[in-house]
Amino acid sequence: MAFFNRLAVRSVHQLTSSNCRYVSTSHVTPGGPSFGLTEEQKQMQEMARKFSREEVLPVAAHHDKTGEYPWDIVKKAWALGLMNNHIPQEFGGLGLDVYTSCLIAEELAYACTGIMTALEASSLGQTPIILSANKEQKKKYLGRLLEEPLVAAYCVTEPIAGSDVAGIRTRAEKKGDEYIINGQKMWITNGGVANWYFVLARTNPDPKAPASKAFTGFIVERETPGLTPGRKEINMGQRASDTRGITFEDVRVPKENVLIGEGAGFKIAMGTFDKTRPPVAAGAVGLAQRCMDEALKYSLDRKTFGVPIAYHQAVQFMLADMAVGVETSRLAYRLAAWEIDQGRRNSYYASIAKCHAADMANKVASDAVQIFGGNGFNSDYPVEKLMRDAKIYQIYEGTSQIQRLIISRNMFEAAKASSS
Ligand SMILES: Cc1cc2nc3c(=O)[nH]c(=O)nc-3n(C[C@H](O)[C@H](O)[C@H](O)COP(=O)(O)OP(=O)(O)OC[C@H]3O[C@@H](n4cnc5c(N)ncnc54)[C@H](O)[C@@H]3O)c2cc1C
Repeated sequence: MAFFNRLAVRSVHQLTSSNCRYVSTSHVTPGGPSFGLTEEQKQMQEMARKFSREEVLPVAAHHDKTGEYPWDIVKKAWALGLMNNHIPQEFGGLGLDVYTSCLIAEELAYACTGIMTALEASSLGQTPIILSANKEQKKKYLGRLLEEPLVAAYCVTEPIAGSDVAGIRTRAEKKGDEYIINGQKMWITNGGVANWYFVLARTNPDPKAPASKAFTGFIVERETPGLTPGRKEINMGQRASDTRGITFEDVRVPKENVLIGEGAGFKIAMGTFDKTRPPVAAGAVGLAQRCMDEALKYSLDRKTFGVPIAYHQAVQFMLADMAVGVETSRLAYRLAAWEIDQGRRNSYYASIAKCHAADMANKVASDAVQIFGGNGFNSDYPVEKLMRDAKIYQIYEGTSQIQRLIISRNMFEAAKASSS
């Protein structure tokens, strides 16, 4: 019995102390990653945590019910520097590393992953520009996002092709000093609210042209004639986020808005994920941590057969499995972020982190609903929304199947390299 009292006391302490939500994962391996946080990282994490609990959590249910885009939150997050902080210092940003962006993403996701996705999708739209734009393009388009609370979007998927990016059909034809874009995009986060888009289009009509040469990346202004966002899609979860199809009808884009050059688009679009998958994984961890905290609290309160349900071993094991999943996924996203921050290719680790965190978040959310019993199935309790919100982590930014393809491809390449 003493064990449960200690558990109860500690859990209440953890749930009420903003500094003490989970056990530290500080861990240093000589020559390897360090999970100790710098003073700056601790400050950013603390600020994001406070913002998430005080500003996002109270409005999360409202945005889930109404689907209203969280402009108020965007404006406040923008003013605090919780958005756009990865923009390099020479263009006016904070130049934060991916690791720190992940810490922020986890904290925001704890309160609402729909709102976190609305913020994170702007980073997804900006990353191709950070990776590949020239100075003028960066100054103009990244600078604009720092001047005003505006958001960007990443516009690649089409009704006909999501996982198979090389199958997209939107085309761009060069005419004089412009490109004319025609086609249809689908599932674009921030599709109806973005100020500008990163757009991938086919510029080489030859079906035999390799993907690495057939596609071009463009920056496209929202107000360009011929660009029309569709209706806001009504999704299973993350309803605060704005997801739309976008039609391009003779959309004229100046050649100055091409990234790198004709044919470079596929590499830019795919390279983006090395930087954006770790924060997405961190978002899934934030959601799972919330599920675990809610389930733990509930299990210590709710009684069956004369004792709190936390006393039943079957429930304890579900809680323990949640902790295993949350802690290992947190380590995975931190390793993926650390690798890219060292300037090394991290696709393997980014896919492991995204795949593991997404699958884990779905299991944890489902088990949290289970621990809540009938109440878990009802929207008056928090875990119903969390379970709906979790599903998309296995789909966007590459499905869980595509992550496994990337992981196994990396394994085969490593095996081939070591045998030759
Ligand atoms: C809410 C939401 C927000 C999104 N935001 C954006 C955005 O901002 N920008 C953007 O460009 N896109 C966005 N997407 C698109 C998203 O990235 C795609 O939906 C995703 O990549 C899957 O593509 P698909 O829907 O066409 O499914 P498909 O590619 O048709 O896949 C269907 C199923 O088949 C599986 N499958 C496909 N190919 C293989 C294979 N080779 N091996 C094994 N299994 C396979 C998939 O894993 C999946 O289970 C968003 C999607 C949603 C739902």
